[in-house]
Amino acid sequence: MERTAIFPGSFDPFTKGHEDIVRRGLQLFDRIVVGIGYNSRKQRYFHIDNMLTNIRNTFVDEPRVSVITYDELTATLAKNYNAHYLLRGLRNTTDFEYENSISQINRHLNSQLETVFLITSPNYAHINSSIIREVHKYGGDVDEFLPYKI
Ligand code: ADP
Repeated sequence: MERTAIFPGSFDPFTKGHEDIVRRGLQLFDRIVVGIGYNSRKQRYFHIDNMLTNIRNTFVDEPRVSVITYDELTATLAKNYNAHYLLRGLRNTTDFEYENSISQINRHLNSQLETVFLITSPNYAHINSSIIREVHKYGGDVDEFLPYKI
């Protein structure tokens, strides 16, 4: 059976840290669906359609990766894609606290779902989407943190 994992996130923006998780995840899974979760009532900083294109371009060489946007429960999305795994990255204990609760809830919602965590590569551990948004907002250069030009 094909092993499909969903890599869900806000990806506002998608960073080199996220790219690293996907590329390493490809050694574990046959197919990875990067799901840009959005909430129609919540404002994003980077436009979702541009982010979709940027992420697709990042993996243009990798047919096992697909990129979609979604506005529903991640557990439901996984069912729809027949995915039994969620892929997430862990940078530090703050990530762990949050990821721990969310993975318990996801399993409660969909008992077939296993969350698999990859510890961030040291080169990317400092990369944080919310800091990138702040730097970009005030005109700072964020190119080195992103796998595409913004
Ligand atoms: P969310 O809003 O769902 O937390 P994010 O886009 O912030 O979405 O992150 C998606 C996933 O990627 C999370 O599991 C997060 O811990 C992980 N992540 C974020 N930044 C990095 C990084 N620099 N290295 C590895 N994993 C990361």
